[in-house]
Amino acid sequence: PVHPVFQLLTNTAAKYPEQTAVRYNDEAYTYRQLKENVDSLAAALANLGLQKGDRAAVMFPNCPQYMIAYYAVLQAGGIVVQVNPHYTEHELKHILQDSGAKWVLTSDEQTGKLLAVRSQTAIERIILFGPCPDSPDHTLLHAEKLIASCPPCPPQPEIDAKEDVAVLQYTGGTTGRSKGVMLTHYNLVANAYQSYWASSQVLQIPGEVTLGISPLYHVYGMTSCMNVSVLIGGTVILLSGFDRDEVIEIIAKYRPTLFPGVPTMYIALLNHPKSGETDLTCLKVCNCGSAPMPVEVIHQFEAKTGARIVEGYGLSEASPVTHRNPVQGIRKAGSIGIPLVHTEARIVDLETGGRTLSTGEAGELVVKGPQVMKGYWNNPEETRAALREGWLYTGDIAMMDEDGYYYIVGRKKELIITGGLNVYPKEVEEVLYQHPAVQEAAVVGIPDSYRGEAVKAYVVPKQGQSVTEEELIDFCRSQLSPYKAPRSVELRSSLPKTTVGKILKRTLVEEERMNMK
Ligand code: ATP
Repeated sequence: PVHPVFQLLTNTAAKYPEQTAVRYNDEAYTYRQLKENVDSLAAALANLGLQKGDRAAVMFPNCPQYMIAYYAVLQAGGIVVQVNPHYTEHELKHILQDSGAKWVLTSDEQTGKLLAVRSQTAIERIILFGPCPDSPDHTLLHAEKLIASCPPCPPQPEIDAKEDVAVLQYTGGTTGRSKGVMLTHYNLVANAYQSYWASSQVLQIPGEVTLGISPLYHVYGMTSCMNVSVLIGGTVILLSGFDRDEVIEIIAKYRPTLFPGVPTMYIALLNHPKSGETDLTCLKVCNCGSAPMPVEVIHQFEAKTGARIVEGYGLSEASPVTHRNPVQGIRKAGSIGIPLVHTEARIVDLETGGRTLSTGEAGELVVKGPQVMKGYWNNPEETRAALREGWLYTGDIAMMDEDGYYYIVGRKKELIITGGLNVYPKEVEEVLYQHPAVQEAAVVGIPDSYRGEAVKAYVVPKQGQSVTEEELIDFCRSQLSPYKAPRSVELRSSLPKTTVGKILKRTLVEEERMNMK
């Protein structure tokens, strides 16, 4: 369907007004209440002068206010700039400057950070949820007061769903500088439908309950936890951070049926002392994406919990999902599955990107479909490099098997070249996860004056287990060619992660560089 993103909410609120849309601690909103809040805030934004195409930064941890702000900005014709609320002033300034946002919608605890950077940005109004007075110059406005003072008569902006940008999604920046990905209304609606169709055989409308831990300010949570749930008239239980005790409690209390998560979350749950005794069989679909999922973890998690992990793949530039294992039918552990409906995929040579490779050959994954971005914001050069004749160059190295299933081998940027030989970190990590004492592992290439780069592993041992560097190196050598085995292993109590839960390999390499100086 070609329609604006906010139509997802309009349709569901009309069909299932009394269905619970969202729960967060003791707060709950039905679709009718959510829609009324959205409409009042959208009307208030329009009254204050928000014009079509204005960028509005939306900056919250997971909470119902994020959903109200997100759909209200879109309903008023604005563009949502997704901002991680944990950003430092420096990161915040970059996003606000780059996007040219005039509006910010956030909670009162962010006021200090925003006022500190405001003079260096185009910000004109800051709409705050929570207890705060309006400032005399009307820069700071109290969101709840605006909502209460405006009747829910939504503005009716003229949206060209295929052309108009709905969201600027800044890439995670796990590698390189963060860029603004322009996702149109059509991109986002398409991906919500595509994701729904991938599970439609097992979904009930309305009535599914989604465990909303993945951050909504990230593209994966936005689509998989929020837009899909709104599309299917489901309830999303929001959690503002990943605390595995709380997750176990929430599962027992609300019996969620869908859980879009990332590997580190499943690893943490698997190693929770109560995971064996808690009944997790309510989880019909545990989507897993964002980073490689070790096969060993899938097997252990499913055996222990009875829940089913369905691995998929995506990236900000594709709203994000492009591949998924089928929920019914053949699931292949270690594979990201097959392209979603209306999505084409090919593997091309790494050097020129112009030659399509055959089955079983590793090359760059390129994709085409309605969910593929319009381009990077104010960045035609990067756009030209990433989008060629409608194909999105993902920067990920993958291969396809004879059944049409895809496998991520590694990222172009993370490929380790040691003594002229290529090592894919994922292959080494898969081996480390087979070791009984390993809870988490990350493999990176560190500078080496002789080999160019050397393979190094960072390992978090399981609680109560001890293991040595030598044992782990020997274990890898027993399964891998010698050049692939780590030359060094560092044991740690935790690994640096992004707020989405991805292991921050760039930080590990930077630390290594600092130590060498
Ligand atoms: P940046 O691109 O700025 O470094 P990022 O990696 O966090 O940041 P995202 O768009 O959030 O950007 O993540 C997309 C990337 O995540 C993909 O390009 C891919 O490398 C990785 N990824 C996603 N799903 C999987 C998966 N199932 N297996 C392996 N890698 C995956």
